[in-house]
Amino acid sequence: MQDTSLFRTWAEIDTAAMRHNLSVVRRVMPNHKQMAIVKAEAYGPGLDGVAKALDGEDIDFFGVATVGEAARIHDLGCRTCPFILGPCFPAERELIVQHGWRAALSSMEEAAHFDSLGKLYGKQVNLHINVDTGMGRAGLLPSDIPMLADQLSAFENLHIEGVFSHLSAAADDISFTHRQIRSFEEAVAELSAKLELPYRHLCSSSAVFNYSAPSTNMVRLGRILYGYSPMPSPYNRELRNTLTLYARVTLLRTLPSHHGVSYNHTYITDAPTRVATIGIGFGDGYLHYLSNTGARVYLNGSYCPVLGRVTMDQIMVDVTHMDDVKPGDVAEIMGPNVPWEELTARAKTIPSNVITSLTARVPRVYI
Ligand SMILES: *Cc1c(COP(=O)(O)O)cnc(C)c1O
Repeated sequence: MQDTSLFRTWAEIDTAAMRHNLSVVRRVMPNHKQMAIVKAEAYGPGLDGVAKALDGEDIDFFGVATVGEAARIHDLGCRTCPFILGPCFPAERELIVQHGWRAALSSMEEAAHFDSLGKLYGKQVNLHINVDTGMGRAGLLPSDIPMLADQLSAFENLHIEGVFSHLSAAADDISFTHRQIRSFEEAVAELSAKLELPYRHLCSSSAVFNYSAPSTNMVRLGRILYGYSPMPSPYNRELRNTLTLYARVTLLRTLPSHHGVSYNHTYITDAPTRVATIGIGFGDGYLHYLSNTGARVYLNGSYCPVLGRVTMDQIMVDVTHMDDVKPGDVAEIMGPNVPWEELTARAKTIPSNVITSLTARVPRVYI
């Protein structure tokens, strides 16, 4: 393992826990294939490390946001095919066609262009039709599906390999989610009359344990792979933490009573206070929104509240109640003792925002 002794902060990534989380989904949904979503540095743990760790796991696709991310997966030598979830610029489609990557289809213009590129390169282009059942972000509208199914099957160089959609509020609006599922089922039925559609996928982390979409045969796994399930479910307990963020104490000082701490003195000591300065800040991805929210770190077996504002490279925590703290001591910033959900709630954001915020300055250590 990497020597972390001089790191101010680092993220320890447990790839075995990711494989375990994958196995939980596989046990619950034995008849579904999986797409592992590794976009945005695999949400924080790092695209390269995660793609390498999951490449041998018999996953059908690696879900990415951009052609650049697909190219990185290709350059790593992964066997798992990249799937570009969102729209691509015309100039990016050439690379997709040449490499045989999978892309989402939202318009007939895209279909016609992909078809002509397929002809040019003598390749069959594998596309998955995106149906906008309510997300309002990309895809064909369900009302256009009957008309387009014939046209799509006529393109000689296209292979419509799948159909998918994305749920917009699976964790929050159950009745709307059921409407989206019904709309997807109708679209699949209409398209199936004209096209073979080997892959049909709708559910991602907030839906896999809580909804069923009968026509589907693949799930797209992002957060759940990384240890977080957005919906209450009996399986959540089985998911394992995959990312633990650590940072070291860099300095210890005692401040007198009535001394301000950090920018704008949003915290003022009310008694002599032992303050540990820790080498992490929003420049590492410890969100500024955590300032003055009761956020805490876990240090030498006890919780220490963060005092005042988070700065770019450092935070200050109260260690008055402890007598064994010294520079170099390691605090857990996020992990088993300071769960991802806790930081999400304090920063008033969503879970993915907390871990995708980790910046390139934070070394990722794979165990
Ligand atoms: C990011 C993304 C996912 C993954 O979502 P999770 O909730 O993290 O599982 C799935 N599908 C699409 C289309 C996405 O863009």
